[in-house]
Amino acid sequence: MKEYGTYEDSYLFTAYPINGATDEPLTYGDIVQQAMNFAVSLTRMGVRKGDTIGLMSENRHEFWGAVVGVACAGAVLTTISTGYVKGEIIHVTNISKPKYMICSPVMFKQHEKTLNSLTFIEKIILFGAEKQHSVLMYNDLVFEDNGQVKNVKFEEFQSVEVQGQTDTLTILYSSGTTGLPKGVMTTHLNVITACCMPANIDPSVISLTITPWFHIMGLIGVMTAFVTGRTAVYLAKFDVDSYLKTVEKYRAVHLTVVPPVLVAICKNQSNYDLSSVKMIYSAAAPLHKDTINSVHKKFPNLQGVYQGYGSTEMTVAILRFRTTDLNTHKIGSVGIVLPNTVVKVTDLETGKPLGPNKCGEICVKGELLMKGYVGKNRGSDFDDEGFYRTGDVGYYDEDRYFFIVDRVKELIKYNGYQVPPAELEAVLLQHEGIRDAAVIGVEHRTAGEVPLAFVVAQPGRTLTEAEVKEFVAERLSNPKHLRGGVRFVQQIPKSVSGKLLRKELRKMLNTAKSRL
Ligand code: AMP
Repeated sequence: MKEYGTYEDSYLFTAYPINGATDEPLTYGDIVQQAMNFAVSLTRMGVRKGDTIGLMSENRHEFWGAVVGVACAGAVLTTISTGYVKGEIIHVTNISKPKYMICSPVMFKQHEKTLNSLTFIEKIILFGAEKQHSVLMYNDLVFEDNGQVKNVKFEEFQSVEVQGQTDTLTILYSSGTTGLPKGVMTTHLNVITACCMPANIDPSVISLTITPWFHIMGLIGVMTAFVTGRTAVYLAKFDVDSYLKTVEKYRAVHLTVVPPVLVAICKNQSNYDLSSVKMIYSAAAPLHKDTINSVHKKFPNLQGVYQGYGSTEMTVAILRFRTTDLNTHKIGSVGIVLPNTVVKVTDLETGKPLGPNKCGEICVKGELLMKGYVGKNRGSDFDDEGFYRTGDVGYYDEDRYFFIVDRVKELIKYNGYQVPPAELEAVLLQHEGIRDAAVIGVEHRTAGEVPLAFVVAQPGRTLTEAEVKEFVAERLSNPKHLRGGVRFVQQIPKSVSGKLLRKELRKMLNTAKSRL
């Protein structure tokens, strides 16, 4: 066993994250050592409190040493979606302006040119063992064996001091209620608060995580699993058979998923031993009653399904429901308010708080609420009492169980991923043959929602659906592709002030459907 200062008997050595595909283990002691070494290396390289460091990587073993190291150096971490294409990377990095970009080899290969064109990125730090020209190797900055660093001793190590309530720890991206993706500033206190409220604190539980770690659900979800000292098995990408094989192999007890993963599991006919699974945690998108019922049939020893409701702006779930025999009549609810948060439902017209069983906008305040968006003042995102206006519509019943029924915000959610219509509309308008365009989400049985475009062609120009779809697919990441199709119309309904009337578009779609 390696020696790390004086804490060698602690739980740091008994539990670890494991790559479920390769069985490669990593102890918490390894993560701490990597993080301390990385923080010292970053400081030596000139990183100072408040500097931003980007991270572009699929789930892999160096990820957590890098995350904790950046935090210990007092820097701000920004994680970039591994699905993003050039334009999206340029958009989000221009918000956070990372000084260094940490990359997995896969991401580096795909985006080297784009990253090199961003003048604010001084250096790229590369994961993996394969050395590349003109980049720094993460291994050289964290491993003593590589000769450039000496293992920092735990008892001598001091992280850079931060102000928990005000200093930003992470910048993740969300379109919020309207427009293009914005940089959500999450403070150290937000993250610590989230880590203090895990759904299950039993350290012997083996959890399996599939959610990407660049998204808030993966990033914070894994941190909350870590603080319990449990073994966390992870996979870098989802395919239903490898996933179920991993459940069987590791006897996973606790699964963290997005709803489409549960749908895929329930449809899978193979015969895996799923008897170890006791708890399933779903979030990021609505989980339907039927899926919950099917899941209970699929896992013979399942004790409950949790459904969490939250958002990047709220750091983690702020409402949570757990199925039990006693509350089956409330299945479909997103549950009750969790500690550290105050929730109110307000009238959509007047903004006044509403009582039980009345639908309105869900508004949130508390220790989990973000500091704000990078470079934006609080504006209409917050109300006069400091509550964040989520853009989600719902109600609570007489037992204070919440139900989400709609969204007043534009956001579309495809397989749990954010698809901001404004982003697709901006791309569509770049097409020389398109005069006007609007995008809405249409319901989809397995993915939740898919984007559909209404397009007005330039006079005299004939456009095909395939041409429009291809144009978008070349410029935006996979979840944003026009899977819902393209409708050619004479004009896009707008208010007198020029505001797009999405409700009218939905009506147009329903009328067209009913005529079929
Ligand atoms: P994100 O920031 O990507 O996690 O997206 C947050 C948004 O996802 C919320 O504002 C909701 O619109 C939606 N969402 C998250 N969890 C749920 C849920 N359990 N039920 C319904 N919608 C959800």
